[in-house]
Amino acid sequence: MQQKDTQQFYEAHQTLLHWYKQHGRHTLPWRNTQNLYHVYLSEIMLQQTQVSRVRDEYYPQFLEKFPTLDALRDAPLDDVFAAWSGLGYYRRAKNLHSCAKECVGVLPQSETELLELSGIGQYTASAICCFGLGQSIPVVDTNIARVLKRYFSLLNQTDKTLWQYATKFVNETDPRHHNLALMDLGSLICLPKNPKCDACPLKETCLGKIEPELYTQTKKKEYIAMELFFGVLIKEGKIALQLSDDNMYKDMLVLPKVEPLEDKLIAKFKHSYTKYRLDVHLYEVEEICGEILWIDLDKFDLAPISSLTKKAKLHLSKKYLFMERHLAQRQ
Ligand code: SF4
Repeated sequence: MQQKDTQQFYEAHQTLLHWYKQHGRHTLPWRNTQNLYHVYLSEIMLQQTQVSRVRDEYYPQFLEKFPTLDALRDAPLDDVFAAWSGLGYYRRAKNLHSCAKECVGVLPQSETELLELSGIGQYTASAICCFGLGQSIPVVDTNIARVLKRYFSLLNQTDKTLWQYATKFVNETDPRHHNLALMDLGSLICLPKNPKCDACPLKETCLGKIEPELYTQTKKKEYIAMELFFGVLIKEGKIALQLSDDNMYKDMLVLPKVEPLEDKLIAKFKHSYTKYRLDVHLYEVEEICGEILWIDLDKFDLAPISSLTKKAKLHLSKKYLFMERHLAQRQ
């Protein structure tokens, strides 16, 4: 990192903090607390969800229901899933619940200890330590990574190198606002496409501003095609589901997997999920192997079911007479 000397860093830090003071997203509730649980919760929610949805819908409601780590620990997992309903990626909710049990009321205050808890990776541990405790450490999310790659002209560098640059660049006088400023800069100015370099506080010393989009080129996505076969068993207004243990839908309720039974086919549909392109077949079955959870059809939408299972429900309600009648009776 020879391109930038200490004086340049000092000036960049000052300009960045000044910009943050004027333009930063100061009103986000998790930026106005040093309650580690609140900071932790916000970071977990923000991993896959837009800031405005977390701020307006999920974060306040979740905290109202589970105001402390103890309250979360003592709640049944079903209640946690219900409060998480609509946010998706239920593994996050399960990890929150496990973490509350593991740390008994208080989150640890070091990166090393945080990394030992369920579902806490490098980014989350750093964010908790920096934003919640003001520790002088780097935080690298996708927005910050993009800013740093451009600012230091880091083409095709590994994550490790990026973290090394982030470490050198931390403003030790005010690490919290420094990292929040970089985060907001990536989110508001240094955009993936058409970054607003003219409005950027780092434009004087940025090495990547000539061709900023060069630093956001991503590898072409590779997709995996799969066929999946599920059994449908409904009795007395309840449907048989199972807790998934495969990586795709881990810890969510799914229809039970079965072998293909072409003469019992109810519906076929296509579904995309992350890198998977799925051909899904639903069969009417009379029995299921393994442990079954019977879910009332009325409560189907409240259960932690995958997007695939939701789509299956739509196909079932069109084609499977029992469910159609049942749903019609309830409307
Ligand atoms: S000058 Fe442009 S490319 Fe460089 S950090 Fe600012 S917005 Fe990003």
